[in-house]
Amino acid sequence: MHCFKNFVIMVKENLETVRKTIPSGVLLVAVSKTKPVEDVKEAYDAGQRVFGENHALEMRNKHEVLPKDIDWHFIGHLQTNKIKYIIQYVKLIHSIDTFNLLQAVNKEAAKHNIVVDCLLQFHIAEEETKFGLSMDEAEEILNSDIFKAMKNVRICGVMGMATNTDNMTQVRKEFKHLKEIFSTLKAKYFNGCEWFKEISMGMSHDYPIAIEEGSTMVRVGSKIFGERNYN
Ligand SMILES: *Cc1c(COP(=O)(O)O)cnc(C)c1O
Repeated sequence: MHCFKNFVIMVKENLETVRKTIPSGVLLVAVSKTKPVEDVKEAYDAGQRVFGENHALEMRNKHEVLPKDIDWHFIGHLQTNKIKYIIQYVKLIHSIDTFNLLQAVNKEAAKHNIVVDCLLQFHIAEEETKFGLSMDEAEEILNSDIFKAMKNVRICGVMGMATNTDNMTQVRKEFKHLKEIFSTLKAKYFNGCEWFKEISMGMSHDYPIAIEEGSTMVRVGSKIFGERNYN
């Protein structure tokens, strides 16, 4: 006979285990993408209030049925035609990866007369597939008159994903690189802006290293909710 209990992911216990490893000053974003509302609720009942999602409609659906004191962070590639599903309540968009997307977010936010906090996502991994800006692309945005005229977005820092590898030397190098990008942008474009302070880096398998390298936000999914099933 199968023992069903073995297959139950203990969200509350996992969350508590992860929390013990995260110093104060580093925000834990619990990445609940693909996971059912019940799992999010279990984490909520264990005190978690910050959740990350990477599909706009999935986030909207969860936002509708879950308690309204949850901070929803958008962490995935965002299509401009989906911004409208999240713009009114999203706490932070981690994944601004094109100038076009930033302009579209600004435009949607303006319709509601709100200011939306965003991070610039950088391509720091070796893989070709990961989204993100280069330093040149970011500087092109930040130097432009269009950006300077934007009133409805606020750039609060940077985000990046390291290469998916067991080579932690490489992962550490990539996190160091993102920290350098942050420091360069801070000095050049955001000197004295107290809101430009976030470095979103670190996932289930590499967040302890990210924290050592200066992460202020870790995005942890499977270590809390169990492996995802994309079928
Ligand atoms: C899915 C995802 C995560 C969480 O990944 P885990 O390995 O499950 O912790 C973090 N960041 C982004 C951008 C993601 O898409």
